[in-house]
Amino acid sequence: MKIKNYINGEFVNPIEDNWMPNYNPSNGEVCGQIPDSTKKDVEKAYEAAANAFPEWSSTTLEERSTVLAKIAALIIERLDSLASAESKDNGKPISLAKEVDIPRAASNFQFFANAITQFSSEAHESVGFNAVNFTLRQSIGVVGCISPWNLPLYLFTWKIAPAIAAGNCVVAKPSEITPMTAFLLGEICTAAGLPKGVLNIVHGLGAKAGNAIVAHPKIKAISFTGGTKTGAHIASIAAPMFKKLSLELGGKNPNIIFADCDYDKMLTTTVRSSFANQGQICLCGSRIFVEEKIYEKFKRDFIKKVAQLKVGNPSEETTKIGALVSKEHLEKVKGHIDVAVTEGGKLLFGGNKVAVMGSENGYYLQPTIIEVADNKCKLNQEEVFGPVVAIMSFKTDKEVLQLANDVKYGLSATVWTNNLRRTMQFSQQLQTGIVWVNTWMLRDLRTPFGGQKDSGIGREGGIEALRFFTESKNICIQYD
Ligand code: NAD
Repeated sequence: MKIKNYINGEFVNPIEDNWMPNYNPSNGEVCGQIPDSTKKDVEKAYEAAANAFPEWSSTTLEERSTVLAKIAALIIERLDSLASAESKDNGKPISLAKEVDIPRAASNFQFFANAITQFSSEAHESVGFNAVNFTLRQSIGVVGCISPWNLPLYLFTWKIAPAIAAGNCVVAKPSEITPMTAFLLGEICTAAGLPKGVLNIVHGLGAKAGNAIVAHPKIKAISFTGGTKTGAHIASIAAPMFKKLSLELGGKNPNIIFADCDYDKMLTTTVRSSFANQGQICLCGSRIFVEEKIYEKFKRDFIKKVAQLKVGNPSEETTKIGALVSKEHLEKVKGHIDVAVTEGGKLLFGGNKVAVMGSENGYYLQPTIIEVADNKCKLNQEEVFGPVVAIMSFKTDKEVLQLANDVKYGLSATVWTNNLRRTMQFSQQLQTGIVWVNTWMLRDLRTPFGGQKDSGIGREGGIEALRFFTESKNICIQYD
């Protein structure tokens, strides 16, 4: 597939005509070409967005809502082809792309199609002063959206949908590692009647095309999801220009299991929260803490269940663990396993590359379980972002709360217990943006999403996203 930039409603080659190969992680083969865009392409995209802004920001909420709903409907209509492109590009099991990634991309548009019609300004009578105050929430202008490779269309649209619903025009860059579904989204937006220039998609490297978006003096807000290091770099460029910034970054999430939990549900969900999408979800629970009373039983049962997960070609419906996204990422994850073992971690399951029949050059790794004794080990402190979990036991509530919080990240946490006091205590004291109790990754799109500490700043979701993509202006009128 030859991927092109989508600028002003048209598919165009990069101005300097430089291209990069796109790899299929399931077999290591080149499956297409993508633009290696530069600052010039970003400038062209910016111009298109700036030209489209006056008209788009003046459309009624109903008009915008109708276009967004149409995009959602077209995504569902093309679910199979989008899912197969996502699976081929990313290595994720086709079943996951069909059941989660693509339906969620449609929900992102549908949700904001509805939400924008309910989003209202606030007004207050300033009693005693014969004055009235009201707050406008105005579109910002041209905004930048930059997304990662793990949930390509899902996260790309999670930014674009609220940005355009709020009346902005967008210059967006998907990950260069997984550009396919963003490319297909361009066609969908045109077919849905999104006016030219409202959404512009520039493909290319982070350090080049991504950097040009962040550094562009007239792109006034940046919504970024990706690694913590990249987020810090982006902040250092955007902050002196006083850009609005939303940063959704890495995680090292604790999964805390108490003996009083619903054991079977916990076990099934823990397999999923550990290894869904090959562990390449920022929300995966990669640090598993198990109460000592049930630790040995959990170890046995967990290993048994994980051993049943089928590692295989992502295009097969029965595959549970597909390929990692790239050769470099596979080597990086393997490196983390080696360091964990050198540091004294005990390999309980996995740890090896897998040769899948017929796809021997694909980037496959066994789901891996490592028992650790010290929370300070690298495996418990650094994000691996692959199918690798660390497990350790604990004795008391106080101890595990301290262990869970003893990390620089603060994205999400999961707690398994049927004790109400414990539920409330952990919900309040875990230093994360999200706490799940007796579930994992159950998302209500109205709720805020984001992390504390090195997991980022700002929140996405529902009203938070619409607030981010608008500028508030307070107006005070005295009428005496
Ligand atoms: P990454 O930071 O390498 O890249 C993310 C995006 O930023 C890509 O589009 C990339 O091209 C671009 N980019 C890279 N350098 C840039 C620069 N200097 N200026 C502008 N853009 C630049 O991250 P990744 O490897 O694609 O994704 C994995 C990371 O994303 C993990 O750390 C994971 O935890 C995180 N993530 C976080 C969330 C969340 O919601 N918190 C969700 C998914 C993934």
